[in-house]
Amino acid sequence: METTENSTESARVRYEMPDPAVARVVLARPEARNAQDAQMLYELDAAFQRAMRDPDVKVVILAADGPHFSSGHDTRVDPEMRKRYVPVVQAAGHGEPGVFGQYAVEEELFSGLCWRWRNLAKPTIAQVQGKAIAGGLMLVWPMDLVVASDDAQFSDPVVALGLTGHEYFLHAWEFGPRKAKEALFTGATFTAEECRQLGMVNHVVSRDRLESFTLELARKIATRPSIGLKLAKQAVNYSMNLQGQEHALTTALAMHHIGHAHNRVEYGISVDPGGFDIIRNEARDAQPSSTAG
Ligand code: ZN
Repeated sequence: METTENSTESARVRYEMPDPAVARVVLARPEARNAQDAQMLYELDAAFQRAMRDPDVKVVILAADGPHFSSGHDTRVDPEMRKRYVPVVQAAGHGEPGVFGQYAVEEELFSGLCWRWRNLAKPTIAQVQGKAIAGGLMLVWPMDLVVASDDAQFSDPVVALGLTGHEYFLHAWEFGPRKAKEALFTGATFTAEECRQLGMVNHVVSRDRLESFTLELARKIATRPSIGLKLAKQAVNYSMNLQGQEHALTTALAMHHIGHAHNRVEYGISVDPGGFDIIRNEARDAQPSSTAG
């Protein structure tokens, strides 16, 4: 990992080259279910940028150590986030009090970095096992393709905290509008197979085949010329931009912050504190929506 002001000594992300043309970026904080703090997000960004700069790398895999892909954002370190990073997307307003500062932080760390990764110039593949919850989905959705193991589960329970949902708000694009509303209204957990049927996941494979299947897919993509891959990716992304995806994302982040602002007035913190109990209680006996009856 290159040394930048955004890197510190204990790496949360590992960079591997399983093939001369394939980089694999691995979330390496399994003891915390790969919860994302600012350090992890900037190490992730540095790893992606390294893969973009390496002319030999044609495809990037995003994988995760441990039983679960990612449990979301590490909110325990939230107050520290503002002091420990150098913004790369949205420079103004960090460290300011009130909604101004929080809006800047979330434009940068959440929607901003995800959108930057969505627009990386080389194909990317998410390799997902176990749970991807809220912020976990935010790392999956910017990738171009998604390969999931058959035990993978996806959910965003953030409405329980008095907010729209997580900040990279492409739920309607990823799930389709009706399933997006169900996911948001109920915090429903969708299985890998359900997500494949919805078009969010490309392939579902057994856990023991997840890594090898994803690598073979990356190798197949890497047989194509980089210029063709870059242009094809941009053409699809620009098509979605013309359908309004970028503006939808921007609008949803503003609405998300109406929720944060309301909660600050009502409860003195940026989320409805009652939501944590709802999420915890439902997670304890969580069943994927297809088996919940
Ligand atoms: Zn937020």
